[in-house]
Amino acid sequence: MEQSLNHIVFKKVSEVCQTNELKAFVIGGFVRDLLLHRPSKDIDIVTEGSGIEFAQKVARLLDPKIKVNVFKNFGTAMFRYRDLEIEFVGARKESYQRDSRKPIVEDGSLEDDQKRRDFTINALALSLHPDNFGDLIDPFNGKQDLQDKTLRTPLNPDTTYSDDPLRMLRAIRFACQLDFTIEQESFAAIERNAYRIEIISYERINEELNKIMMCAKPGVGFKLLQKSGLLKLIFPELEAMKGVEDVQGHKHKDNFYHTLQVLDNICQNTDNLWLRWSALLHDIAKPRTKKYIQGQGWTFHGHEFIGSKMVPHIFKNLKLPLNEKMKYVQKMVGLHMRPIVLAQEVVTDSAVRRLLFEAGNDVDDLMVLCDADITSKNPDKVSKYLDNYQLVRRKLKEVEEKDRLRNWQPPISGELIMEVFGLTPCAQVGIIKDAIKEAILDGEIGNNYEEAYERMLIKGKKLGLKRLR
Ligand code: ATP
Repeated sequence: MEQSLNHIVFKKVSEVCQTNELKAFVIGGFVRDLLLHRPSKDIDIVTEGSGIEFAQKVARLLDPKIKVNVFKNFGTAMFRYRDLEIEFVGARKESYQRDSRKPIVEDGSLEDDQKRRDFTINALALSLHPDNFGDLIDPFNGKQDLQDKTLRTPLNPDTTYSDDPLRMLRAIRFACQLDFTIEQESFAAIERNAYRIEIISYERINEELNKIMMCAKPGVGFKLLQKSGLLKLIFPELEAMKGVEDVQGHKHKDNFYHTLQVLDNICQNTDNLWLRWSALLHDIAKPRTKKYIQGQGWTFHGHEFIGSKMVPHIFKNLKLPLNEKMKYVQKMVGLHMRPIVLAQEVVTDSAVRRLLFEAGNDVDDLMVLCDADITSKNPDKVSKYLDNYQLVRRKLKEVEEKDRLRNWQPPISGELIMEVFGLTPCAQVGIIKDAIKEAILDGEIGNNYEEAYERMLIKGKKLGLKRLR
């Protein structure tokens, strides 16, 4: 083991083992990541005996000022040391009941503890006792599976997945994250046990979905979710995108695979989880709006509008946050066709102004989404579309410099309108404000106080209002 911060911690654990005649092991994700050369800040330590007391002893040796967080109900203790998060737990044996993923827990041996792990690559342990410090304890050939890039359960996969169905999502997430293959028998067991996902809360499900979303190629994960039968259970709207319909030999593209391509594309250009979600959901209403029209072929009229209306339902079902993140995704889905239209037609200043006005500061993200949405296999077409978007970007920049419409604030306030015409709050104030906004967006007047004031007076006069000052 390398000489590092981890090593300092492990040496202290080792000392505690020596003085108290105890055994302790570093186990799970940390060992897996160590062998894969992936940096990890989370260290899980399993002790034979009480994990809580052990943690307190180690913390005292490392630095008496460390605060140990004790979770008595779970028999675990955790503390931070610099940027490491170290958790201690006594080795345990688990047994499950049909209706819950929460096991009945008893004290156990290291081997019992390794058996309760989800995958052989997550069951690896390194001894920290001075007698065999650094020895790998690998009863299920996890090291070989790491080399073969295989996900395999230590025990019977049907039991493993049925006991805790979250493991099915973890399998797919690890496959996507590490670029591993789920061993055949294991995948078949996921297909058989997919229905068991019903006992898992959406908070847990979306945690795994978000981890898949943050992979380099989340498309791999969503394809596995679909193939295993899990997708239709946890995210039916996405499943509905799959398939191709044929009317008189006219087929539309498979929107599921198109969407995943867009998602994988965008992941090359952004780590923003919510922009990635926008890519996943941008065409979500295509199945609902799909229509074959003679002479026109397949159409999806209004899919961006219906799609943006579906976003809150989807977020609510998946228990994703119903806050400004959701509003952002809604906005992206709702606006994703606008730059496409701009790129196809002669770009008028007014159309660009309206887009800037509606997208505000998110207009750059919208353009990233539009770039990702180009999935043509024809390189000439791809470069033509990308060029068109560059043109739209230039136009956006030009108009923005001139008119400053991002995060637009009305140059004339409602209070001023009331003051000038001696009004109390009423519909006419709104009508005048709206007329000013429309005039600015149409380019009839500039986005400034003087011209807006002038327009307010004209509109007020038309409404038959008397000017008081
Ligand atoms: P990541 O940190 O990427 O989420 P991880 O596996 O490193 O993944 P945890 O999810 O914190 O981290 O899990 C730590 C260890 O606990 C795993 O390596 C595994 O041994 C075990 N584990 C976690 N969840 C389960 C589960 N649902 N069933 C069985 N073992 C699990």
